Amino acid sequence: MQYDAIVIGTGGMGSAACLELARRGRRVLGLDRFHPPHSHGGTHGRSRIIRQAYMEAPAYVPLLLSAYRLWRRLEEETGVDLLRITGGLMIGPPDSDAVAGSLRSAREHGIAHEMLDPAEIRRRFPPLTPGADTVALWEREAGVLDPELGVGTMLDAAEDLGAVLRPGVRVTGWECAGEGVRVRTENGEQLRAARLVLTAGPWASELLPGVSTHLTPSREVMHWFQPEGGVARYAPDRFPIYIWDPGAGAVIYGFPALDGPQGGVKVAIHHGGDPVDPDHVSREVTPDDVEAIRACLAHRIPDLAGRHLHGAVCLYTNSPDHHFLLGPHPQAPQVVLAAGLSGHGYKFAPVVGALLADLALHGETDHPIGPFLPPGGGSGAAIPG
Ligand SMILES: Cc1cc2nc3c(=O)[nH]c(=O)nc-3n(C[C@H](O)[C@H](O)[C@H](O)COP(=O)(O)OP(=O)(O)OC[C@H]3O[C@@H](n4cnc5c(N)ncnc54)[C@H](O)[C@@H]3O)c2cc1C
Repeated sequence: MQYDAIVIGTGGMGSAACLELARRGRRVLGLDRFHPPHSHGGTHGRSRIIRQAYMEAPAYVPLLLSAYRLWRRLEEETGVDLLRITGGLMIGPPDSDAVAGSLRSAREHGIAHEMLDPAEIRRRFPPLTPGADTVALWEREAGVLDPELGVGTMLDAAEDLGAVLRPGVRVTGWECAGEGVRVRTENGEQLRAARLVLTAGPWASELLPGVSTHLTPSREVMHWFQPEGGVARYAPDRFPIYIWDPGAGAVIYGFPALDGPQGGVKVAIHHGGDPVDPDHVSREVTPDDVEAIRACLAHRIPDLAGRHLHGAVCLYTNSPDHHFLLGPHPQAPQVVLAAGLSGHGYKFAPVVGALLADLALHGETDHPIGPFLPPGGGSGAAIPG
């Protein structure tokens, strides 16, 4: 059968694209080499930050505001709680990316926020021990998403609307065929569709000839600690998400205690990991990994660095400037992609699904993706399979 669209990779972004295409009544086939939600790619670990005063650039804010609305719509449609508001702190010296960048987005887009001095940070959030040069931007609407629950919910909803999902099928190549596309799988199948959606996460560069941007997966470790004083002070009604950027040195981020008294508190280094091949990455969390995060916590949240409960490896897919690639393939208008999400993409999943569906079906979208369009270059728009 010929599909209206084939989605390659049904993880964080592809699950949303499948749902949105199915919602619009299209025949959609979602292929994935694993069984999403899974822990091989970039969308696992039970929690993801969502926030509006976006330190990365003001250009993301309109997409974020749409994402919030679409997460809430998905909750209403499915009855599943996906987005939990905890408030958020962007911490660091006043000229750090976290503080200055967030403030810029907040001011440009009129996002409610408050600036806190070190004494106020300590008073409101006692586990945090900022130095004299450290301030924070407080954003009330920041919160947490559960990526495994999100992917599972989107895929279930897509299937209910008629999407065909085939996990466990690896795509080896695709090419343009007339106005449409042909996709080849590992087991020798040739599948045809009018449109192709490429959302392959850390494996994207294998499937993206003709896009000149170099994408580099990196190995990023998440940690769960049992704080020395217990988890009560980290309860989600009194402790927020945070990103702590010391200006020079490792940026860390973390969450409240989302899993009860024994579940620990999650914290991690942002962009701390080495480049890796996603097929040959060590999934083992080493003593060096634990030492690296302990060193970051020593002067920032010393109480948190109690007993290390466990860790997990996740993959970022980094573009050179850490900005997204969203839009049509530069040499093949029937192919659209979301790639290079660089460790900050999950919060956007529903709006990325919507804009990919717009582009696949109509060749344009009202969402402002101008700054994120994939650049051309390289070889032709097909890969050998
Ligand atoms: C430790 C960590 C913390 C993060 N924290 C945050 C956060 O707080 N907030 C936030 O917004 N974002 C965060 N992110 C980033 C965010 O989770 C990712 O940007 C996003 O989830 C990636 O989604 P994706 O669809 O691009 O990739 P994935 O979810 O990895 O999906 C890609 C899919 O493609 C499939 N695939 C690949 N190749 C093929 C093939 N040849 N054939 C068939 N299938 C294929 C894979 O199996 C996979 O399922 C974090 C990421 C990590 C790793």
